[in-house]
Amino acid sequence: MAKPIDRFRDPLYINWLKAARALFCTAEGIRDFCERHMKEYQKDVISRLKCPTDTCTGGTGLCKDCEVLWKKELTSQIHTKTSPCWKNANVTIWDSSAWEVAKVYMTHGQKKVRSAAETDVVGLMQLVHTCGWFNSLVTNVKSFEKVKDIRNDVSHSVHLKVTDTQLGEYIKDMIVLLEDSKELQNDKKAQTAVKELRQIQDLPLEINDTTVLQTEKDNREVELVQIERDMWKTKLDEINKWEPGVTKEEINHALDFISKQTDLSEIFKDDIELLKTKMYKLEKRVTETEGKKMYCFILYQRCK
Ligand SMILES: [Zn+2]
Repeated sequence: MAKPIDRFRDPLYINWLKAARALFCTAEGIRDFCERHMKEYQKDVISRLKCPTDTCTGGTGLCKDCEVLWKKELTSQIHTKTSPCWKNANVTIWDSSAWEVAKVYMTHGQKKVRSAAETDVVGLMQLVHTCGWFNSLVTNVKSFEKVKDIRNDVSHSVHLKVTDTQLGEYIKDMIVLLEDSKELQNDKKAQTAVKELRQIQDLPLEINDTTVLQTEKDNREVELVQIERDMWKTKLDEINKWEPGVTKEEINHALDFISKQTDLSEIFKDDIELLKTKMYKLEKRVTETEGKKMYCFILYQRCK
């Protein structure tokens, strides 16, 4: 069985972890920005929409008529080809929780999330990219879509490897987003994230499992092993939920990789078991379907 130090000798694997950490820092850099502006948007909607039946007094839940008005308003903000995700949000509390409004602009799976702090990088990027309220607050909303794509490439990377060139490009794109000239370039949190990204990029590749990849603002050291665990936890959760972008090749490679690592196979043994069961069921279903297809084909050939 391989020890952590063995995989930490692979510079491309280290780059994969660096990219994951960089994405986390980018999300941290825009959380306050997203939350602040969603509160403003919600306030603006409240000031414009009046309850037709005069029954909603605020904080008690929206009536059906208000729900219709809110849905129309929130839909009008969408300037991309996507549709609002009503399933993500508790529609009756749009007047009291700005983040329930924000979740409408994210893809499904964010129902349990209650705040910007609990939202992952994909959700935050989708919000700014999809919700037109942000159009006047950033120069280029497309850069948010780009970082969302980077996150998907990194998370679903089959071979868990990122080259130096790729890492450089990824970090460059994240910095472009964080240094947006409209507001983010003067935002303290966004600029702290930029510093962190440069710090990550400059780290040497000859590191070991107790290497500190980064020191957080509160001087809490973030060790490489912790970043790795977070990354694997997210990856396995997504694979187990079979999120878009997950491929069979990715699953097989992830299972193979973890099974060879003493520490990771122990930490994630429950996730791995769940995944193996799912894979077994899937293979069985595929074999059965293939079998049925073959049977029909033989019958068809005989009847010809
Ligand atoms: Zn109402």
